Amino acid sequence: MAGLEIRDLTVLYEEGVAVDHVSLNVAPREVVAVLGPSGSGKSTLLRAVAGLENLVSGSLSWDGADVTNLPTHERGFVLMFQDGQLFPHLDVAHNIGYGLFRWEKAARAARVAELLRVVGLEGYGERPVTALSGGEAQRVALARSLAPAPKLLLLDEPLSALDAELRAQLGQFVRQTLTDSGTPALFVTHDLQEAQTVADRVVTMDNGKLALPL
Ligand code: ADP
Ligand code: MG
Repeated sequence: MAGLEIRDLTVLYEEGVAVDHVSLNVAPREVVAVLGPSGSGKSTLLRAVAGLENLVSGSLSWDGADVTNLPTHERGFVLMFQDGQLFPHLDVAHNIGYGLFRWEKAARAARVAELLRVVGLEGYGERPVTALSGGEAQRVALARSLAPAPKLLLLDEPLSALDAELRAQLGQFVRQTLTDSGTPALFVTHDLQEAQTVADRVVTMDNGKLALPL
């Protein structure tokens, strides 16, 4: 099995089961949306895939190799959040290049320029991120997430803080960007329309359990 394979994953908090025996595959280049209400376990699932949760049961593999016990930074996955979490003291270019600290300076500059083009923000490199609109900030966050060419992008409601019109517009944009770069992704949202815009396939989550695809 190529791509991500989640098998029988369970995460428990003191209050109860957050992720309940979840199994799911993400094929190479595939974008899968996980749709569910608040509290259904979506974020916990993403965090578990990223290696940020203790598992009660289950396994994760990438291209057939077991990664269940691999440290987060060795998985090659990137997690992006609702509020983008840009570094306010760095300009746009340095935010995008943040994960490329091991790269040579010229290569890093070229990669940052490429990503600025990808997200339609050419010429924005030296702007302070505090001067960006909400939509621009999320495009910078998307560029930063894509910069190290992750094997898999984990997107946790990346558009939820934006207004409806911008959300629809950026949904298309995210879809296009993931497709063009061939990056497989797990996209978490509570918005059906957004899920259908962004993803190849939508699965639903409720009370920690995955339900049948829509
Ligand atoms: P969603 O992202 O779908 O809103 P979450 O994964 O954040 O859902 O939460 C799933 C369940 O786990 C909820 O009942 C939530 O209260 C609980 N939960 C989430 N994070 C923690 C935590 N760090 N400690 C304890 N319980 C948590
Ligand atoms: Mg969440």
